[in-house]
Amino acid sequence: MRLALLAAVCGAVFVTSDADAAGTCSAQARFAVAVHGGAQSKMRDGTAQLAAIKAALTAARADLQNGASAVDVVEKIVKAFEDSGRFNTGKGAIANAAGQVETDASIMDGNGLRSGAVASMTALKNPVAAARLVMEADRHVLVVGDRGQDYVLGLGAVRVTPDYFNNTGKPKLEPVSEKPHGTVGAVALDRCGHLAAATSTGGFDAKVPGRVGDSPIVGAGVYAADGVAAFSGTGHGEFFIRFNAAKDAADRIAYAHTPLATAMQQELFDVLKPVGAEGGMIGIDAKGNVALDYNSLGMLRGFATDRSEPAVAQYEGTKGTKAGK
Ligand code: ASP
Repeated sequence: MRLALLAAVCGAVFVTSDADAAGTCSAQARFAVAVHGGAQSKMRDGTAQLAAIKAALTAARADLQNGASAVDVVEKIVKAFEDSGRFNTGKGAIANAAGQVETDASIMDGNGLRSGAVASMTALKNPVAAARLVMEADRHVLVVGDRGQDYVLGLGAVRVTPDYFNNTGKPKLEPVSEKPHGTVGAVALDRCGHLAAATSTGGFDAKVPGRVGDSPIVGAGVYAADGVAAFSGTGHGEFFIRFNAAKDAADRIAYAHTPLATAMQQELFDVLKPVGAEGGMIGIDAKGNVALDYNSLGMLRGFATDRSEPAVAQYEGTKGTKAGK
């Protein structure tokens, strides 16, 4: 295989090849994938969600082994969750205060810091696929509302009618602490050494129409930079935006050389928790370390690597792995 490019990013050297250009990677053995299905603020039966997470991880692990790119893998996982109706995203997205579903989603490719995002979408089957279309169109990063939706429909996003969504017309006015979280996210490191992240949500239950959370905001609920890390967040989005949570965690790694799991703990427990912000994050660094952590009661989550079979948890349980272990 002819090596086409050697790039040094933040001290890490990446090798991409002709195969990489074609969308497949095989230059290194190491790969990893992690997902979340939302921070949990109360005890719930997550059996069905954990099964969906395990199935997605099993497929993603095989895809990565076979050379799939990180960005394709995270999009495929999030799309499956959007279609499942089991999470607060896509078909299962919860309704705003007017009983209307409004979805937000993003995708970020650490290879070149490319990103696409959509917010306040009311008629999209797969918001993450629309975010990918925005990224690939390579003109804008974030489009919002009806006019943004017209743009992504023009790019090929699939339209659905309001009756497609499970929760149309059902706003539940619950207190903040009771809000159901079920945002989904995925991060991956592929065999070219590229990192990617994606996040997708219906936002907060009974939110003000037009409210946009952290999930489609680069640096808040999503971030990926080759040579550093990829993150996806879940929780009280207003705080993730204000504290630029995903980018702040990545900066701890890039500038302070803080290990991934420590950077995430600092973000969740030293930055977010003191201001009353509940949530969680998943992350993978350039070496293939995986971290999944939360300051809430729990977080639906799981990961797999080239060496580890898929592992899932909702409350106590796995919080990641060190590369090579
Ligand atoms: N972060 C999402 C938002 O604020 C909600 C969640 O993760 O549960 O829109």
